[in-house]
Amino acid sequence: MSEYYCRKCRQSMTTNAVDPQLVNLTSSFNNNYLLGKFEKHYNNSGSYNINTVFKKDDFENQSDYDIYEHYHYLAYVSGSLEIDNQRKKNLVLCFAKPTGDEYIHGIKAGQSEAVKLVLFDNANKIHAFPTSSAYLTTVRCKNCGCKLEIYDPNTQSP
Ligand SMILES: [Zn+2]
Repeated sequence: MSEYYCRKCRQSMTTNAVDPQLVNLTSSFNNNYLLGKFEKHYNNSGSYNINTVFKKDDFENQSDYDIYEHYHYLAYVSGSLEIDNQRKKNLVLCFAKPTGDEYIHGIKAGQSEAVKLVLFDNANKIHAFPTSSAYLTTVRCKNCGCKLEIYDPNTQSP
């Protein structure tokens, strides 16, 4: 079972998180690792068994990079901490609206309503992708017992 900590309770546990605004999220350094994630989860280029791709349609007059960075930044600032079975730490943020589309073998198969920011302590590997919110809406903070935050862009600023 993964463990979850709400936005407030996780603060002292994520002091090593890298601010996505201070990183080149499409860097070709490190064997194009970050650039490849951008191509996969933003441009949906390449072929994958399963892939999720960020939505772009709610953003006016913003560059592709800014939209991509925005999702990262929101998860960094407002996300809850997930510690998975392998003790890997991720920041997850549920949204009150779709964040991306899910593709199975290249065919659109559903929508995502959360964002997961992984490897957030590593400036060369930090990246985010849309993910399902279904399981996240049922879990509670291991420390205080509260429900994890849901981000509503109509009522909240980051
Ligand atoms: Zn809590």
